Amino acid sequence: MKIIPEIRGLVQYGGTVLPEVTIEKGALQQIPLYMESKRFKNVILVADKNTNEAAGLQLSKILPHHIDHQLIILQPNQHGQVLADEPTLIQLFAEMPPFTDALIAVGTGTIHDIVRFIGYKMNIPFISVPTAASVDGFTSKGAPLLFRGMKQTVQTTSPLAVFADVDLLAAAPKQLTAAGFGDILGKYTSLLDWKISELIGNEPYNQLASDITRRSLEACVSNAEMIAQGDADGIAILMQSLVESGLVMLLLDFSRPASGGEHHLSHFWEMDLLDKNEEQLLHGAKVGVATAIISELYKQLGEQLDVEHLSIATPYNESLRKHWGAIKDLIDELPDPSKLRKLLKTVGGPTTAVDLHISNDLVQESLNEAYKLRERCTGLFLINQFKQSSITYPIDSLPI
Ligand SMILES: [Zn+2]
Repeated sequence: MKIIPEIRGLVQYGGTVLPEVTIEKGALQQIPLYMESKRFKNVILVADKNTNEAAGLQLSKILPHHIDHQLIILQPNQHGQVLADEPTLIQLFAEMPPFTDALIAVGTGTIHDIVRFIGYKMNIPFISVPTAASVDGFTSKGAPLLFRGMKQTVQTTSPLAVFADVDLLAAAPKQLTAAGFGDILGKYTSLLDWKISELIGNEPYNQLASDITRRSLEACVSNAEMIAQGDADGIAILMQSLVESGLVMLLLDFSRPASGGEHHLSHFWEMDLLDKNEEQLLHGAKVGVATAIISELYKQLGEQLDVEHLSIATPYNESLRKHWGAIKDLIDELPDPSKLRKLLKTVGGPTTAVDLHISNDLVQESLNEAYKLRERCTGLFLINQFKQSSITYPIDSLPI
């Protein structure tokens, strides 16, 4: 499976070179030849205990002897999780031998973030070997890292090539696939938010990028059953969608098409767990749940906001009145929260904040505060601006 050719239409926009992408069964077997073609001599494979067992060991066995290669296994924290924080970054930095000329990230999103950051800082290219279709960040260049317990996304570099072996991805734990599906489902609200930001806030927009992202989203939704069953074709569709979403972000050099209010809620919850030093939840699991919450909220906004009698004066009132018809149509097109939860259930992911063990208080707080995380004129921002005009927030335990 190859990435869709339309993506090349965005290249001129970002001026970035696209990584080579291979999404197919047995893609792992193609890596040795690729590494030889690039004349890499000293290669480091970076994995954690699980992804080493899933792919690292296998890959180190098939790399030829004349390519000097070593495995670095990243250490987990007290919760058994590898985080992209200072101790882990230092571990990789300290264990990497001098003269390394390529890094191979073998794992999920966090391992990629660690590798892309260190590779970028040391000017060493990296190859992506995803072990689960769990997130859309493999091909982007933003690396969310934890510095002194605070999350900060650093712009680094994209991989030279991606080898997504569908056999490996299909064998990954089901909750990781469900998380990847949740991250894709979030595009319903991120695309709406992006359009609202353009209409109301006059923020940068790109129709082609929006169309590509929507097509990826729709491909996953119409193949949800196949993805749920772990069918190789379904998993390949999900992975392709995740890769394409990452490429769109890479080429535009911002995350708007793939990250809106649902991601702001997810980040808010993540920071709360970090503050309490609790176990982290899968990114896409949070995003999927947050998408249904945001959809509920937007449906209320669509029904209740009276743009002719806005409660307060803001710089956006005029453009909101002007574009309200178009925004309302887009909100009507947004799937109902019950449909979104049903889709999440189909793939075996959590559907409500209760499933994630996130309290109603935190959901409520995030709905009031999370829009401040980014200076974007999103739907969540508008709701917070006009919330005195009788917008009420949903209780997050609605039946599916
Ligand atoms: Zn995401």
